[in-house]
Amino acid sequence: MSLSKETSKEASKNHSRESLNNNKSTSKFHDISNDNWTTEQSSELYGINAWGSGYFRINSQGNVCVTPSGKAEGPQVDLYELTQDLLDRGIRVPIMIRFPDILRARVESINSCFSKAIADHSYKGQYCGVYPIKVNQQKHLVQELVNHGKPYRLGLECGSKPELLVVLSLMNTANALIICNGFKDQEYIETAILSQKLGRHTILVVDRYEELKMIIEASKKLNTFPHIGFRAKLNTQGAGKWVDSSGARSKFGLTADEIVLGLETLRQNNMLQCLELLHFHIGSQIPRIQSIKSSLKEGIRFYTELHGMGASHLKYVDVGGGLGVDYDGTGNSDSSINYSEQEYANDIVSALQSLCDEKGIQHPDIVTESGRFLVAHHSVLIFNVTGVNDLNRAEPPRVAGKTDHPVMQDLQYIYDKLNRENINECFNDLQQARNEANSLFTYGVFSLLQRAWTESMYFAIATKMINIAQNEDDCDDIVQTLSQELCDTYFCNFSVFQSVPDSWAVGQLFPVMPVHRLSEKPIRQATLADLTCDSDGKLEKFIDTETGKTKKTLQVHPFTTGKNYFLGVFLTGAYQEILGDLHNLFGDTDAVHVSITENSYTLDHYIPGDTVTEVLSYVQYRHYNMVDSIRNAAEEAIQKGNLTKQEAKLLIKHYEEGLSGYTYLEEAE
Ligand SMILES: *Cc1c(COP(=O)(O)O)cnc(C)c1O
Repeated sequence: MSLSKETSKEASKNHSRESLNNNKSTSKFHDISNDNWTTEQSSELYGINAWGSGYFRINSQGNVCVTPSGKAEGPQVDLYELTQDLLDRGIRVPIMIRFPDILRARVESINSCFSKAIADHSYKGQYCGVYPIKVNQQKHLVQELVNHGKPYRLGLECGSKPELLVVLSLMNTANALIICNGFKDQEYIETAILSQKLGRHTILVVDRYEELKMIIEASKKLNTFPHIGFRAKLNTQGAGKWVDSSGARSKFGLTADEIVLGLETLRQNNMLQCLELLHFHIGSQIPRIQSIKSSLKEGIRFYTELHGMGASHLKYVDVGGGLGVDYDGTGNSDSSINYSEQEYANDIVSALQSLCDEKGIQHPDIVTESGRFLVAHHSVLIFNVTGVNDLNRAEPPRVAGKTDHPVMQDLQYIYDKLNRENINECFNDLQQARNEANSLFTYGVFSLLQRAWTESMYFAIATKMINIAQNEDDCDDIVQTLSQELCDTYFCNFSVFQSVPDSWAVGQLFPVMPVHRLSEKPIRQATLADLTCDSDGKLEKFIDTETGKTKKTLQVHPFTTGKNYFLGVFLTGAYQEILGDLHNLFGDTDAVHVSITENSYTLDHYIPGDTVTEVLSYVQYRHYNMVDSIRNAAEEAIQKGNLTKQEAKLLIKHYEEGLSGYTYLEEAE
């Protein structure tokens, strides 16, 4: 109950804010000329300087550019020109563009924050981060992280057996950690223990109590002491969208009771010295530093208590993931964070220092498992707009006369008489007439022609009405309702389910904006529909930089058929690629790795997207059988005289090219 009260309060607050803003946008709306529109206004409108974290900005050509150094003067690449260059090379939209330089900048950023915090506090332990590969397991990306992370001994974390195998094959940094989380079987455990003999520092984190017995058995069998960590279940709840990964009911972690038992079991087996690490994780994308602070206090208490109970070889505290990314630039929502990475590092270091000093325990080394923070920024999805559904009608349909149905005459009357004095009355009459017209069609009174006329007239009146209402102070409801109804749908060449699944699955917000034409005023309001025939396949949640909340439409430029219009979804590097699915058989997009140099860029890798044949093979269709069956059907049709040989040739050509082609829309030859 209290929640719904909150929301309605919020709603009325928003409402009054929106009214103000509508007035503001009124004046903008009538200023159709582009002369006064600047790239600064575009930056403000889309919030790019806030969520871009310095890596993305608008250049003087009015295009988005990428600046991995975080500085406008540093090396950069123009995203629009880059997209054109990639298309010229035969790479296809939608394209996932990855920037390894941003990865390097993120690795450097988190490490420099911890070095600074450690120096400022004269903390005695070291920082050694690990990257949890579940966030994005693409081979080139993990390799790049391992390489950029060498100077910082950046390690890797795995959460399953397949991930362990990846991590063991890629990790070759001396003294970096490999952290093993997730459900483990005997094979997982023995592989991890044996990897120590390859010179790896592999730590098996006990996520469930049963695993401890398996680890002890494996250790005896292999005659090797393993490195062991305990994952503690905290009572402190995280916050935000992924809150369920924490708290007493969380899937993983040992209860206090199990930790005490575990310690005794290790002692009895003379393995107490194997216990090196204490782990906890309160969830991903923690929006508020307060949740992080309280979980730290609770988690570190486990560490100091275990020390007190004889676990004197404990030397790592692993605070898990959760370091958030500012997806909307507000600093004040679940899609954002109210702290900087420096604050995050400071809070961890100072909490560990004070609690350990209090108990006279040596400062542990600090492990973080930040995934989202490291990789979210580095990839951008670029797609093109293929068409627009525009419901604005400048011209009304033919004039309805005495012989037309009374409801049609009503609509005609509303259209003719509508003015600023009677606008509220007209608005109500319009809604009523529309409802009546709909029922008349359903009950067999209206013909399809009559229904078509009423629809056109409805939108003609709505268009005229919104133009009047925008200049009035007290017509916010009308403007709001009608602008929702009249907004454009931009049809876009991508799949939400493949490329930004979290936007559909958990309502996550991603920054979206045009990558060019930004010195031109975006005068249209649109929602973005993807290629799937699923009604959920659309983006209709955008940053509203004026209110700090979200809005249902994005301001975009008028689309001209035959001219490329490219939009970008930003900060898609974390979780989206691997969670993406094949809904409607749209496969992986083309992906490229682009390194930015002083005056240019280099294309490091091109990873072609799925072909139709590849996607079909996941659902057991075989290329040969499919072509064979079409050939047979064509042959039969030729025999019957229903198909010419030329037609058969063209059909089979299209069929085969379709199978070897991209799953997304392609340019006509
Ligand atoms: C998913 C996960 C992470 C990564 O969390 P981020 O919020 O992406 O940094 C870290 N540790 C564990 C145990 C996880 O399950």
